Amino acid sequence: MSPAKTPVGILGATGVVGQRLLALLDTHPWFEPVWLAASDRSAGKPYAVAARWGLSTPLPERFAALPVSPAEPASCPAKIVFAALDAALARELEPAFAAAGHAVISNSSALRMQADVPLVVPECNPEHLALIERQPSYGRNGGFAVTNPNCSTVGLVLALAPLERAFGLDSVFAVTLQAVSGAGYPGVAALDILGNAIPYIAHEEEKLEVEAQKILGRLTAAGIEPAGFRVSAHCNRVAVVDGHLESVSVKLKRRAPLAEVAEALRGFRGRPQELGLPSAPAAPLLVTEAPDRPQPRLDSGAGGGMTAVVGRLRPCPLLDYKFTVLSHNTLRGAAGAALLNAELLRAEGRL
Ligand code: NAP
Repeated sequence: MSPAKTPVGILGATGVVGQRLLALLDTHPWFEPVWLAASDRSAGKPYAVAARWGLSTPLPERFAALPVSPAEPASCPAKIVFAALDAALARELEPAFAAAGHAVISNSSALRMQADVPLVVPECNPEHLALIERQPSYGRNGGFAVTNPNCSTVGLVLALAPLERAFGLDSVFAVTLQAVSGAGYPGVAALDILGNAIPYIAHEEEKLEVEAQKILGRLTAAGIEPAGFRVSAHCNRVAVVDGHLESVSVKLKRRAPLAEVAEALRGFRGRPQELGLPSAPAAPLLVTEAPDRPQPRLDSGAGGGMTAVVGRLRPCPLLDYKFTVLSHNTLRGAAGAALLNAELLRAEGRL
């Protein structure tokens, strides 16, 4: 390992998000994976045997023979641990890793809405990272947890952030078409999803209806004061591999012409772009004029999978404006989001 790189661990390294993390970290300029952990089924096996590698890029050779570790804090030599575990398991393991002094960068929903845990999209609310100082483990041994949002919240909140800043938001109505990779591996049975759409994803609407308000909320001495807009969400699973598409209508607090709304979306930039973080896309949002875009197959790779694509911005007869937003669920919605959070933590001297 290059002496300049910081060692990191991945908890849930064999899963859909864990694999994406490993692929992104393969060429990362700051971080090097040294500890890959998963369930007892995988522990002790070489990573290449334990993981059913599912990406189109090959498994980086130097990780293939690395033995999978048990998911125990004492076995992890790295301070930074990326966590990609099911929520029920994360609720138990993530606090245990933070209590043992690790910086847990989590993808799961387990701790997202906890008052002292930052829920961060670096372009939207980098200042919320200060919440880690209020976690009990931080004062004891520097351990803490930071989370990124649900994979559908990310695309939505990237589009809402510039609108909330420029005009204020009153209400949001969102209908999602979510890819199957969002359900992990093996996910939804082929017989259920092929040639079909399923109008239910357990617990997804509840997450989409509260997370954006925490992210766009204000950090106060008492905690995060959530933004005041309401969200109504309908979540659907569709037969798409990667990329969550969302049809969104918004009511603004200050009425504005369409050109001004488009300009606010186009001009949106944040801390990652200012700091030139390695995983930051040049722009978090790309606004397209094409009448039939964005589409998951054609557009989910924008900005290396880290740019959300907004299209079909137009007036809405019920609320003020409507548009479509697409974001890559395992990159901007998971592995890339966690990596960008870790980069921001390091750039701000919090690691
Ligand atoms: P996944 O493909 O099912 O992977 C789960 C991982 O957890 C595997 O590495 C698995 O290891 C490990 N694991 C299972 N039981 C364990 C145990 N008892 N102890 C330690 N490790 C255990 O799930 P995923 O899609 O990567 O999702 C991971 C988390 O990220 C979830 O909370 C999910 O909601 C969230 N997330 C996913 C996406 C997405 O698009 N997929 C997006 C955003 C957030 P084994 O291989 O040994 O079983």
